[in-house]
Amino acid sequence: NHLPEHIRAKVHNHPCYSEEAHHYYARMHVAVAPACNIQCHYCNRKYDCANESRPGVVSELLTPAQAIKKTLAVAATIPQMTVLGIAGPGDPLANPERTFATFRALSEQAPDIKLCVSTNGLALPECVDELAKHNIDHVTITINCIDPEIGAQIYPWIFWKNRRIRGIKAAEILIEQQQKGLEMLTARGILVKVNSVMIPGINDVHLAEVSKVVKAKGAFLHNVMPLIAEAEHGTFYGIMGQRGPTASELKALQDSCEGDMNMMRHCRQCRADAVGLLGEDRGSEFTLDKIEAME
Ligand code: SF4
Ligand code: SF4
Repeated sequence: NHLPEHIRAKVHNHPCYSEEAHHYYARMHVAVAPACNIQCHYCNRKYDCANESRPGVVSELLTPAQAIKKTLAVAATIPQMTVLGIAGPGDPLANPERTFATFRALSEQAPDIKLCVSTNGLALPECVDELAKHNIDHVTITINCIDPEIGAQIYPWIFWKNRRIRGIKAAEILIEQQQKGLEMLTARGILVKVNSVMIPGINDVHLAEVSKVVKAKGAFLHNVMPLIAEAEHGTFYGIMGQRGPTASELKALQDSCEGDMNMMRHCRQCRADAVGLLGEDRGSEFTLDKIEAME
């Protein structure tokens, strides 16, 4: 593990950021964020956001009050639960009231739990102050490209200042917001992980460049995830027959980025309502009806 000391001190008990910790510490996601402000070609809105989750999964949408109750119940049952993340089912920062109501209550009522959030980055710059206020020390940004021409092949549109914007212009704005958000977070000492979805023939070669740039701007970890393009998850629409990378293509890209920065290789693309150690999902023990029944 070649993370610098000050980062290691922050992540030693974070299951996602430390290879050793993921055997001992648990995390949970609460799905409080239904809306999204962009469209990714690989997204099927029926399911969880692919910023952080394996597509094809439907999580139980909770209100902030339900999410707070669930988190406190899980923390009381699983003492190794160190991390609470909001990762969907849409984009957490496109639902700022719901996301921040949840963080605000938990930072007051359960100050020992680390809070993290994942986002496509479009609304990130305007949220950085609020994130810092709630002591969020980990943010995951999904950055699939730094070139708008490539971006236009991944994102058909964004919703920006009350308007739908398409094509290269949309990709330009999204990329600018992601890079600005990344710089603002690292300037405040908030840890940033970058996720990228590897899409063969579209951004696979380009991701090595993305890796260099985000590292130079202070991201501490890069997590390249494979596009999962199975028919039942919804195809990469507009592109017939788009496939995901093979295991060896994924590994080759991860190896080629490794020289530049830490690569995360044990991310499980957990569901937006996952509970437990990384290899397990105890979410079904903590569904809403069961939590209501615990009282
Ligand atoms: Fe779907 Fe997530 Fe992309 Fe939004 S950011 S379109 S929810 S994959
Ligand atoms: Fe950790 Fe990846 Fe699961 Fe998020 S999706 S909780 S980063 S293993």
